[in-house]
Amino acid sequence: MKILVINAGSSSLKYQLIDMDGEIMVAKGNCERIGIDGKFTHKTFDGRVVTKEVDMPDHTAAFQQVKAALTEGEGKVIERLDEVTAIGHRIVQGGAKFDRSVLVTPQVIQDIAGYASLAPLHNKAHVQGINAAIAAFGDKVPQVVVFDTAFHQTMPPVAYMWGLPYEYYEKYGVRRYGFHGTSHRYVSHRCCELLGKPDGQGTKIITCHLGNGSSLAAVKDGKVIDTTMGLTPLDGFMMGTRSGAVDPSAVTFIMEKEHLSPSEMDIVLNKKSGMLGISGVSSDDRDVAAAVAQGNERAKLAWDMRTYQISKYIGGFITALGGLDAIVFTAGIGENQEVLRSELLHKLEYLGVKVDEEKNKVHGEEREITTPDSAVRGFVIPTNEELVIARDTKQLVEQL
Ligand code: ADP
Repeated sequence: MKILVINAGSSSLKYQLIDMDGEIMVAKGNCERIGIDGKFTHKTFDGRVVTKEVDMPDHTAAFQQVKAALTEGEGKVIERLDEVTAIGHRIVQGGAKFDRSVLVTPQVIQDIAGYASLAPLHNKAHVQGINAAIAAFGDKVPQVVVFDTAFHQTMPPVAYMWGLPYEYYEKYGVRRYGFHGTSHRYVSHRCCELLGKPDGQGTKIITCHLGNGSSLAAVKDGKVIDTTMGLTPLDGFMMGTRSGAVDPSAVTFIMEKEHLSPSEMDIVLNKKSGMLGISGVSSDDRDVAAAVAQGNERAKLAWDMRTYQISKYIGGFITALGGLDAIVFTAGIGENQEVLRSELLHKLEYLGVKVDEEKNKVHGEEREITTPDSAVRGFVIPTNEELVIARDTKQLVEQL
């Protein structure tokens, strides 16, 4: 069974074709600058690469490129389009309604569109992506939606409510939802397997998804009890360009002083803050790390602020969990940035955590990075959100 995984953004459409017999990536690619001019990249499992500048006015046009790349020309990987059994879509915001992946129906599309007020850029693009997939593949090919928010739906109200007037929760659903759920689910399940408790019962884990966007989740008995991101993926600690949590009054204060509209302030908080905003160097972690090595003081401040902020969340989550069995690092920074991992684990020395510095330096593979006598086990587990989407899609399609 081959499954096409789609991640549709407002001006991009990433895809990956996965052969579920062996869970092998057959081809993957990206349609960028949709509605602007258009850049298309397609890579196959055996190293063939197709790139071209091509006009893609909308997501339907992008799907035509994907279809063509899969079935013809230099990057061809399948004979016929009907070899694609099903399509799985990544959806950012599933609100309180979706606590698991579901098959796409007209009602589901309507629900995703309805949650657009909570994730305007993302959910609108996802609906465009689903409709474009239906237009490209026909309505006989089953489609499944997998939500970033779903794994966090087990949070109790004490964790997901904020101290705002209750009516805003009732009227608009203002609460913590959490994101990166697909990744937290994948790595926490894998961690439970590594702990020898595949059903998760009796486990207390913190998963650290550290990428351009970053979040932590506290996972008890295999279920999320708290997470750092909130109504949107802005909450929590400093990220590449996102501020993370700040005193809400600082936001209204800056808006007044700088005469900024809500959408302008949104850009400040989401695109101009975080590691970029403090360091003034870059949002990319490698650039910031290089600047720190060269003695750039603001880069060092940004670096240290992030470590400090993450460690405070870790401390809070240990209390929320009532202890800690394991901590997992994943995503671009979590999998590759040994200095940050080491700093965060050293802050847990008071608990009896001992880092294996040699193992911590190994990159690109699943590994334990604490010593056998460490009181808490530390792991690097490479995430694979596309595979989770493909697995969920397969499971739902097989039930049809
Ligand atoms: P997202 O999926 O949120 O866009 P990623 O998970 O791909 O982000 O993470 C991107 C971040 O990971 C960037 O800040 C990048 O600098 C960092 N990163 C990627 N590879 C490495 C590496 N080899 N060493 C250090 N940092 C890395």
